[in-house]
Amino acid sequence: MLPLQPFYEEDTLELLDVNQDKEERKLHCILQSKKASSQCPNCGQLFSRKHSRYCRHVKDLPFIDYKVELQIIVRKFFCNATSCKQQIFTERGLNLLESYGRRTARMDKTLRSIAFSTSAEQGSRLSKQLDVPVSAAALLRLIRKTSLHSPSPSDAVGIDEWAYLKRHRYGVLICDLYTRRPIALLEEFSADAVRQWMSEHKNVRVVSRDGSLKFKQAIQESDQNITQVTDRWHLVHNFNERTERILPQVVGSRIPIPRDDSQPSEEHQPHSSQTDKGKQKEQLMDQVKE
Ligand SMILES: [Zn+2]
Repeated sequence: MLPLQPFYEEDTLELLDVNQDKEERKLHCILQSKKASSQCPNCGQLFSRKHSRYCRHVKDLPFIDYKVELQIIVRKFFCNATSCKQQIFTERGLNLLESYGRRTARMDKTLRSIAFSTSAEQGSRLSKQLDVPVSAAALLRLIRKTSLHSPSPSDAVGIDEWAYLKRHRYGVLICDLYTRRPIALLEEFSADAVRQWMSEHKNVRVVSRDGSLKFKQAIQESDQNITQVTDRWHLVHNFNERTERILPQVVGSRIPIPRDDSQPSEEHQPHSSQTDKGKQKEQLMDQVKE
């Protein structure tokens, strides 16, 4: 057996066997949980009486030039607490895995980095080259699953509509103006959704927004002391639009440049202008002497 145990968390998982498929360039690792007990997800108590076990098939990051597939033997336990509704539960706390995931947590982390670095289609192509193949749809699901929750949103936020599907479905995006990071994505583009979010974040004092009356009213209703400001993008955009509309009315669409043909241009008479200046200088000097 290949000595791969140090690569798996020794406190939770034990490596039982490794099969090497040279043709397919794959490693099949069989692991089992080493934990003597597990916590019931309902009542939170630890129990060790085993009910049964089953296999989970999970993809892991490639090892050198080999794709890695894990077969993890996971157990189910009885919950003996009389007041708990959960009679049987699957063991938790295997750090390598996220619940119900088909990939290890570290593989998800790598794919999440790809998903946030490029488009879903490009990311999917890149993932195949890196031996962690996923579809574009799977990358989009990973992005949507990623928590945007900020533990302490600042007192200044920006708010704008967000297109889940352009011209069909819109939500609301809220960003922290100090960190410049998104902190919430509201499912609905509605005043109720904004009002609800504002009521849960009483520390917000300044909201930057577009000209939407829907946002204006929802923010006002949630807290009248919040200062609402126009965001820079819409301010400049609206200014440009107005200027383009008003300027032709004020100065006309064609602006004639006056031209005096009677006077020869300076470039044809450089010496004469210099002579004039010289004469003026001499006259001034004479006046001073007098
Ligand atoms: Zn329980």
